[in-house]
Amino acid sequence: MQPNDSILDYLYYPDIINALKNDILIQEVTIKIKDSIYTCYISKVDLGTTLLFVDVTAAKRAEKMRSEFFSNVSHELKTPMTSIRGYSDLLAQGLVKDENQQKEMLLKIQNEVNNMSELINDILLLSRIESMDVEVDMMPMKMKSLVDEVLESYEVEILEHDITIHKDFDDMVYIGNHQQIYTLLNNVIGNAIKYNKEHGHVYINIEEQGQAMKVVVRDTGIGIPLADQSRVFERFYRVDKGRSKARGGTGLGLAIVKHTVSLYKGTIRLNSELDKGTTIEMTLPQQTLKQA
Ligand code: ADP
Repeated sequence: MQPNDSILDYLYYPDIINALKNDILIQEVTIKIKDSIYTCYISKVDLGTTLLFVDVTAAKRAEKMRSEFFSNVSHELKTPMTSIRGYSDLLAQGLVKDENQQKEMLLKIQNEVNNMSELINDILLLSRIESMDVEVDMMPMKMKSLVDEVLESYEVEILEHDITIHKDFDDMVYIGNHQQIYTLLNNVIGNAIKYNKEHGHVYINIEEQGQAMKVVVRDTGIGIPLADQSRVFERFYRVDKGRSKARGGTGLGLAIVKHTVSLYKGTIRLNSELDKGTTIEMTLPQQTLKQA
């Protein structure tokens, strides 16, 4: 820059040029340069003008994700609310005389309420995992009993769809947070059952690998199309919304799994073939004993 040059020669962003031309002493302009977003703080001082560029890309991105998340949550809650309002209005007005029909509507209301509370639980869980500063208990847990506990909660689905579960693992002890590891297994094993075919199989393999635990869950289910494989870990992303909802899915399961794995500094890999099945492989380092 030469002594007599004007800063205007160097800046061709219209918002900044306009800000420099007016008489306001302190201004703030946000501009996008390539893939980055900058806030430019402009101050007119005695000797001239100062421009301070601050890269706000990460903050803006986080803000966008937050607002997308809230709009998704509102959308997810609106659907069951509309249906609850509809049925309860009909029932309250005494418009449905048939007792069986009344009962059916009450069951639908109950179902929607259950879905909503599942969704709220998942949202709270996700936000708790994301604010990593939250202190949680790290305790030793017997993996075999934990898997049995998870499988028990899917007893009905396993029977209904005649799914065979194959368990192959050492009775190892893992140090982690009980609720987080339970939820992680519940989501991965639950998906292997929910997105399986009639008479399908689920293989659960857990083994100790040095200072870590390797968990592999494989199913012979419907599989995930290649194009969707990288997106299933996003919040609210579902390949088949109808099937997910019908099976009580919130679309948050794998997002919770991914966050938990990263909180534990582990790794996760997904392998899937459409119509053949899916394998999820996770490695979770042992955590250190800690009581909150
Ligand atoms: P959901 O609550 O819908 O199950 P998830 O986050 O757990 O949400 O999974 C996201 C989507 O990924 C599911 O809706 C489903 O379409 C797909 N998916 C997850 N696991 C499997 C699996 N084992 N087999 C086939 N599709 C799966």
